[in-house]
Amino acid sequence: METIDKLIEAHSGKFGPSGKLRVFACPGRINLIGEHIDYNGGHVLPAAVDKSIYLVITPNDRKSFRFFSTAFGNVNEISINDLYKTSPANNNWWIYPAGVIRTLAEDEWPLEHGYDMSFASTIPVGSGMSSSAALTEVVVFALSTLLKIHLTLPHMAALGQRIETEFAGVSCGIMDQFAVVTGKRNCAVMLNTKNLEYEYVKVDSNVVHWILVNSMVKHSLKDSGYNERRSDCETSVEKLNKCGFNRKYICDFTMEEFEKNKEVLIEREQKRVYHAITEESRTVQFEKLMKRGDYESAGKLLTGSHESLRDNYEVSIPELDKMVEWAMSIEGVLGSRMMGGGFGGCTINMVKKENVSAFKEIISDKFRKEFRKETEIYDCVIGDGVREIIL
Ligand code: ADP
Ligand code: MG
Repeated sequence: METIDKLIEAHSGKFGPSGKLRVFACPGRINLIGEHIDYNGGHVLPAAVDKSIYLVITPNDRKSFRFFSTAFGNVNEISINDLYKTSPANNNWWIYPAGVIRTLAEDEWPLEHGYDMSFASTIPVGSGMSSSAALTEVVVFALSTLLKIHLTLPHMAALGQRIETEFAGVSCGIMDQFAVVTGKRNCAVMLNTKNLEYEYVKVDSNVVHWILVNSMVKHSLKDSGYNERRSDCETSVEKLNKCGFNRKYICDFTMEEFEKNKEVLIEREQKRVYHAITEESRTVQFEKLMKRGDYESAGKLLTGSHESLRDNYEVSIPELDKMVEWAMSIEGVLGSRMMGGGFGGCTINMVKKENVSAFKEIISDKFRKEFRKETEIYDCVIGDGVREIIL
């Protein structure tokens, strides 16, 4: 509540008092398993966390929108007319809310007046918890609520994905947006990215905690080889389809089909496809084991996922590899892997509840000794998705 109280105060300070103030929150997300397959037609298993971006919003009587973030300081104003001139893929943080407004306005909403929006966040930026999806979706949810535009949760997620692709220049999959809108306390979301069907999988926080350890290497999807990986996957599907298939995604191919036809791919593409197909089967298996309560066996699949991301998808870095190796030598760690796009960010560690504090201590010691700096550790409680906070 402290974050919200301070944000309301900052909002009134910047934009003046208003009686019609509303508050919304959207969490960040972790991904238990299913990495780099949300754009390959696979299953992913993310969960919303207890860290969020908060939005305080008031209508104004101007023909403009004003944006303020406690992370940046100054107020940015954009007139309704200029909204259509905003160049996509510029580097300003407010391109995300501006993108939402413009897209909603084009689709279903005649703009009559503007809104003032203030944001504050407890999600560490660029650590792989998807602060960008939270920023986008909190605005999608707030505006669709205020304007009574009926959007289903999958529709909200798809809208956010479109905005991140068109305005921030990252052709991301739909996982992040989907997780932060559909998230539910103590549940991961098993999402079939091909048809957007989803199912909740209970995760008992009395048994395990999900602990992120930050490599302190900043990643950026835009220049991290992410778009390159995506295009490798697209060309692989095209090439495999020339062998008599008509498939849309890599995860539509079985391992046997791939093995029989892999010569049409260059070595790099073979590795990418191998990762996607094996990651899909690890994810499906992981869900089954979690449902059965077999957390020990499920944990081993996380480590398998890391090895494949390192060797086949080639998105890990030595820091992350070391951190996984250390984690696996600590008592009570059931599994560990790099999480997110790669080239930096965090590892996700599945740690037995009783071993959590020792784990944090040992891993930060090792990190300090090896890299001569401090790591950041986030103990993530699985929480609810985007919502309005009623004051
Ligand atoms: P992440 O993995 O956290 O999503 P991205 O690079 O995709 O990392 O997105 C981070 C971007 O999201 C920031 O550069 C900024 O533009 C925006 N952002 C995140 N948090 C905030 C915030 N509190 N206020 C304003 N913009 C934010
Ligand atoms: Mg992002």
